[in-house]
Amino acid sequence: MAERITGHTELIGLMAYPIRHSSSPAMQNEAFAKLGFDYAYLAFEVGADEIEDAVKAIRTLKMRGSNVSMPNKTIVGQYLDELSPAAKMAGAVNTIVNDNGHLTGHITDGIGFMASLKDNGIDPIGKKMTIAGCGGAATAIEIQAALDGVAEISIFNIKDDFFARGEDTVKKINENTNCKAAIYDLADLDKLREEMDSSYIFVNATGAGMKPLEDVSVVPDKSYFRPELIVVDVPYSPLCTKMRTMAKEVGCKTMNGLGMMLFQGSAAFELWTGKPMPIEHMKEVLNIHYDD
Ligand code: NAD
Repeated sequence: MAERITGHTELIGLMAYPIRHSSSPAMQNEAFAKLGFDYAYLAFEVGADEIEDAVKAIRTLKMRGSNVSMPNKTIVGQYLDELSPAAKMAGAVNTIVNDNGHLTGHITDGIGFMASLKDNGIDPIGKKMTIAGCGGAATAIEIQAALDGVAEISIFNIKDDFFARGEDTVKKINENTNCKAAIYDLADLDKLREEMDSSYIFVNATGAGMKPLEDVSVVPDKSYFRPELIVVDVPYSPLCTKMRTMAKEVGCKTMNGLGMMLFQGSAAFELWTGKPMPIEHMKEVLNIHYDD
């Protein structure tokens, strides 16, 4: 790394708090080195009260851009010059691109999710998706899936503070895309079964399955799965959730959240460099297997 950095090297940041645990710096720097791009990617502990100044620093330091994560994703947009259609609809930004002082905000989580499906031979375009979740990851996926041409999306969530955000997402999708969206209470198990039965793909985009909810599954038992249903998790730590263990037992094709993690990074990399990450190399380096 030290040999690679010169007076010409441009900086790309990751602004969030907490952030020291992130695997993005290792992933992005590996990809820059592999393709010979003269960028360095560093993580900065930046909270909500500092993000405005941090955006000014992107301009002042003529950084190529930045990723942003919690708590800044829903706040940072107001300090930028332009938002991508998906970022505008999702009300969130995870990638900033600096084109000679003009800052554009993008959200690559949904792009990454859809790209990871494609990479794994899964094609939900023109088909029905049932998805659990109304938080940041789920909203980005739902908006991008609708923009890309998924025909129908049925969203399920527990009746917590996120539910209203899901209702807002449904409204935006129905008003702005050709996709038909609806939202239901996750406690309505008859409806969950009905919607899963008529879907091509089921996605868990909640915190269920991830620490501290590693024993929680949004799908109550195996009887909700049929072998043709594709079952995808967004969480990836631990790698295999209780939900996907059940789906595998039924014979479903399943996928963990590592693909989305890789491809959201690749989409950001491409926005900064004009080239996608060397995906097969990254999968090898990061030891990514979709069905683990
Ligand atoms: P968030 O806090 O914005 O949303 C949390 C969601 O989980 C909400 O829909 C909430 O209602 C739901 N939820 C919380 N407790 C629940 C429970 N007991 N039962 C059912 N649902 C429950 O979080 P987020 O940023 O959207 O992250 C959600 C998950 O996705 C996390 O596990 C996160 O690590 C993962 N994630 C993965 C990637 C990736 O690249 N693979 C990217 C972002 C997030």
